[in-house]
Amino acid sequence: MNAPVPLGQEGTVSIIGCEAAPILRERGQREVFCGLTGIVWLHRKIQDAFFLVVGSRTCAHLLQSAAGVMIFAEPRFATAILTERDLAGVADIDDELDGVVSRLLERRPDIKLLFLVGSCPSEVIKIDLKRAAVRLSLNHSPRVRILAYSGSGIETTFTQGEDACLAALVPSLPSESPDSERSLLVAGALADVVEDQFARVFDALGIGPVRFLPMRRAADCPQVGPKTLFLLAQPFLGDTARALEERGAKRLSAPFPLGSEGTTLWLQAAADAFAVPAERFDAATAEGRARAETSLARHRQTLSGKRVFFFPDSQLEIPLARFLSRELAMDPIEVGAPYINRQLVASELELLPEGPTLSEGQNVDRQLDRCRAARPDLIVCGLGLANPLEAEGFATKWSIELIFTPIQGYEQAGDLAELFARPLVRRDLLEV
Ligand code: SF4
Repeated sequence: MNAPVPLGQEGTVSIIGCEAAPILRERGQREVFCGLTGIVWLHRKIQDAFFLVVGSRTCAHLLQSAAGVMIFAEPRFATAILTERDLAGVADIDDELDGVVSRLLERRPDIKLLFLVGSCPSEVIKIDLKRAAVRLSLNHSPRVRILAYSGSGIETTFTQGEDACLAALVPSLPSESPDSERSLLVAGALADVVEDQFARVFDALGIGPVRFLPMRRAADCPQVGPKTLFLLAQPFLGDTARALEERGAKRLSAPFPLGSEGTTLWLQAAADAFAVPAERFDAATAEGRARAETSLARHRQTLSGKRVFFFPDSQLEIPLARFLSRELAMDPIEVGAPYINRQLVASELELLPEGPTLSEGQNVDRQLDRCRAARPDLIVCGLGLANPLEAEGFATKWSIELIFTPIQGYEQAGDLAELFARPLVRRDLLEV
């Protein structure tokens, strides 16, 4: 079991970590959702955007079932389904697409940002959606901006849809003006309530202007340029980070804001870059930290010493393992992630105590064998594996729930711990 390592006075941390640990690379069968899933949370975030998937009936079914009940008077996503006329080459795909987009925009003047989202049927892959977006933008600008990205399930996992979407947005962001001051950009979709909390802390720290990507409305696009420092709020944004760096922005390296420690170090990275005095940092974060510690303590008894196994799914696995081991004294046995971008998770790997097998990619049968042999107390995995593993007697946590639930920041630290405690508590109740 790994004892939690408390933060030192100046935010110093243990240097015994996994940064040099070997990574088991697996390239076999995978069990993951595709990048279209990102639309489920992105369409709620950018309130005047619309996501038009160009795909098959399977894509439409995935979106409809994953998004559940439509909560808006008018939908913010749809699927343009390829028909047999398209597949047989009878119809001109460009004309068809132009017609669909024109009808949509005519009927929905509220749409200010339209994403054409590619999928993985081979006929869709052949369509140059980026070129189509440029062509359609000429017809519909300045009323609507039209961008394209791929949510295809080939070689991706479900959180990469957000990365592809934000990376497509970055080149269209306005440039800083020559007299712009230094600014902070937080990249990665956060629940509005979490975003508001962080905005208040940055304000208390005297850091500003602070902008968020994605923005809530298309007109509020953040400026970007060499005076922009950016913090990633999510670990799966490699392409977005690269696109921002290509615009001259500089990434602040930090752990992700999960748990009390992660949130403090994430805020500290910004505070250091903006030369915030230590006393001001302590004053702005002390209460939040105390509330987080109190809420975490409630779950420590349930989780402490429990062995947890991560199947690769959300790309949050390494930050979560760090949080669970250091703040709740859990014992990660294997931490599988679909992709490991060592640069983006360097600060996390430094903190993650030595011990777990780190694996990248998946060979699901081999990983199931390792998992069954290890008999963990809790398995974090995708929906497809959870039910069969529950039937075998394991307690599981759906990793997709960690994306749909607000989990970042001090105020959500207890909720995050509870997500892992709940399956164990339920199991205990059932066994009584
Ligand atoms: S993009 Fe591919 S994997 Fe995703 S729903 Fe459509 S067909 Fe399935």
